[in-house]
Amino acid sequence: MIGGGLAGITAALDCAAAGARVTLVEVRPQLGGAAYSFERDGMQVDNGQHVFLRCCTAYRSLLARLGSDGGVRVQRRLDIPVVSPAGKLARLRRSSLPAPAHLAAALLRFSPLTVAERVGVARAARALEAVDPGDPEIDAQSFGAWLGEHGQSERAIARLWDLIALPTINLPAAEASLAVAAFVFQTGLLSDAGAADIGFHVAPLSDIIGRPALRALGDAGVRVRLQRRAQAIRQRAGGFDIELPDEVIDADAVIVAVPHRRAAELLPAGAAEVAARLRALGSSPIVNLHVVYDRPVCPLAFAAGVGTPVQYVFDRSQSVGLAAGRYLAVSLSGAEREMGMSPEALRNFYLPALADLFPDAHGALVERFIVTREHAATFRAGPGSGALRPAAQTPVPGLLLAGSFTATGWPATLEGAVRSGHVAAEGALHALSVQVQSAGVSPAVAVQPVAPPAEAAV
Ligand SMILES: Cc1cc2nc3c(=O)[nH]c(=O)nc-3n(C[C@H](O)[C@H](O)[C@H](O)COP(=O)(O)OP(=O)(O)OC[C@H]3O[C@@H](n4cnc5c(N)ncnc54)[C@H](O)[C@@H]3O)c2cc1C
Repeated sequence: MIGGGLAGITAALDCAAAGARVTLVEVRPQLGGAAYSFERDGMQVDNGQHVFLRCCTAYRSLLARLGSDGGVRVQRRLDIPVVSPAGKLARLRRSSLPAPAHLAAALLRFSPLTVAERVGVARAARALEAVDPGDPEIDAQSFGAWLGEHGQSERAIARLWDLIALPTINLPAAEASLAVAAFVFQTGLLSDAGAADIGFHVAPLSDIIGRPALRALGDAGVRVRLQRRAQAIRQRAGGFDIELPDEVIDADAVIVAVPHRRAAELLPAGAAEVAARLRALGSSPIVNLHVVYDRPVCPLAFAAGVGTPVQYVFDRSQSVGLAAGRYLAVSLSGAEREMGMSPEALRNFYLPALADLFPDAHGALVERFIVTREHAATFRAGPGSGALRPAAQTPVPGLLLAGSFTATGWPATLEGAVRSGHVAAEGALHALSVQVQSAGVSPAVAVQPVAPPAEAAV
């Protein structure tokens, strides 16, 4: 396994559970990949706010498998407080009715939109239910253009559709693929009433993912090699040599679970066409601002913003054990503009914007202002991206891909990463059992936990 993010962790656990001998190689000092925390001045800071939905069943099952599901909390019912300047508050809260009626009342009361806009949104949502996310022609279209054709004004797009598109697709509607958007809205909001209830990480990410994963992999017998960069994968008769700085691992099967641009560099010549597609996929940034005030400024645990550059804000005080003061984390998706701004410029721009939303912040002292930037937080889910996303299976037998960029149907999410890990593990185990069969050994032996016949390394 190359890569210790959620995809690699999941695939390694699956392969080990099936009896394969697994080595996991991770370049960083910790597991967790794109979802991790680090210490700054005695405070645990997440690299970016990560939320999930009730419908993220694979991710939630992984947390249960790691024994860390106690570190997350899922809303009883979807409830998004929506704040706008001068402290105005609206809510997107589902009712107990079945989908899609569960959101009807919330939408009809949604004050950031005019009454005509609310009715228009309901009509467009019904039309979106009929869009097929699996259709390549749909993938080639922009969600923004489709919304325009369905009567959505720029204002309605900014105030409602982007509220969902930005955090889930990591692009504004105008730049997103219609297929990914249709998948998100259908899966999260239009098919099952409870699907979009939001899940929060109430402890630092590394306490929920990285550290428990290291323990679980150890318990499963996986050899974890941290701070080792896989430099090359060489194909040889019957397997692969994986070159690390200080050793060469020989493996019968390899799962490459690194970010897509890194995967493109690692894939051997036999997978050159896949590598070319990965290079074309592009990426989208996320910026988080971590602001510690000397006093309470915001009465909400989290909120979305409209009519403000603040997209989503989370009160992280409790999760980091902050006794005095308040720690607000501002999450900015599709953050091309913010990637180019200095910490000082971000501070000058965003502190007044926060004070516009939460008037108590006007008189508060900002004790810390930390910026975290992930320039390639996700693949770029623009029009045509579906055609570029590769399957787990590459043209090279025994060489598989895992990662949220693979063709899971899901946008780049925790859930997509875990799902991709399961699929890649299945492919690797299949490749191993084929090898075992052709060597004249019973395939059942391949799943014996003792003295397994093959290395699913990696
Ligand atoms: C700031 C931010 C906020 C996000 N918010 C959300 C959210 O709210 N909800 C949600 O569902 N998703 C969110 N995501 C997306 C989610 O985190 C990712 O989709 C998911 O974690 C990706 O997992 P992965 O295993 O596919 O890849 P990664 O997590 O990228 O793991 C790949 C691993 O490979 C390692 N690696 C790279 N090259 C090598 C090499 N040569 N040798 C060895 N190891 C290597 C990397 O160090 C990394 O650990 C967010 C992402 C970011 C960055």
